[in-house]
Amino acid sequence: MCTVTFIPRNDGFYLAMNRDERITRPSASPPAVFGQGVVESIYPLDSEGGTWIAANRSGAAFALLNWNDVQVLHQKTCTRGSVIPALLGSTCDHAAELALRRLDLDGILPFRLVGIFPAQERLIEWRWDQQTIERNSFPWATRQWCSSSLSDAAATASRKQVLEQKLTECRPRSLTWLRQLHSSHDDGYPLFSHCVHREEVETVSYTELVCLGQRIACNYLACSPCKRNRTLHRVSLPRLLAEMQPIGPTFLIVNNSRLPFVPPSVR
Ligand SMILES: [Zn+2]
Repeated sequence: MCTVTFIPRNDGFYLAMNRDERITRPSASPPAVFGQGVVESIYPLDSEGGTWIAANRSGAAFALLNWNDVQVLHQKTCTRGSVIPALLGSTCDHAAELALRRLDLDGILPFRLVGIFPAQERLIEWRWDQQTIERNSFPWATRQWCSSSLSDAAATASRKQVLEQKLTECRPRSLTWLRQLHSSHDDGYPLFSHCVHREEVETVSYTELVCLGQRIACNYLACSPCKRNRTLHRVSLPRLLAEMQPIGPTFLIVNNSRLPFVPPSVR
């Protein structure tokens, strides 16, 4: 139950993700730096361990969505959150796919995994239906993936209309625009809004990966993105570009300032 939006930039990309979860699920931890050296990565940590979105120093990024429109063949014995951490040593899609195919996925529920590889400008989606791994490649262009426990297909169709309308606005694809999109409520189809508020499920966090030039940052809001005056956590890493050696020590920035997340005029 999530929305992932990819926006290519001249020297990198934006990736935004709303995580829609049961309200009773224990909270995740804000993003931090994990690993060492080339495989240093930034991501928020789920209460069961693992993560649903992450990036490493090369700028390779992953986001994982539940795949609800296929039948569950085997009961869950291992969390889907364990998949992405196992791939974070990869700097290209071939290495990531090799690592994915080496994983023991038995007991992991169906998922769709988005892989972003800016050095090669590759945008990949892998799908696991508890039998096989299917791979799809997409052009390096704006794209969105949606899931909902009610219906992935219905959520995708509904949010696509909102996305296409928003793309006609002034200055689309900016970070502010992306935050407005992920904070939006669809009065016509409220169950499939980008920002979800249902009885038992809501958008519990918003995560943003900003990969530009020589830096990659993870911005994280531990609540619905429509809420006001909340703390935006920020962690960043120097980006290891393909032709470069490591550029100095890694440092951690956690910004606890209470900056407005979305300008007041959009609500
Ligand atoms: Zn909302």
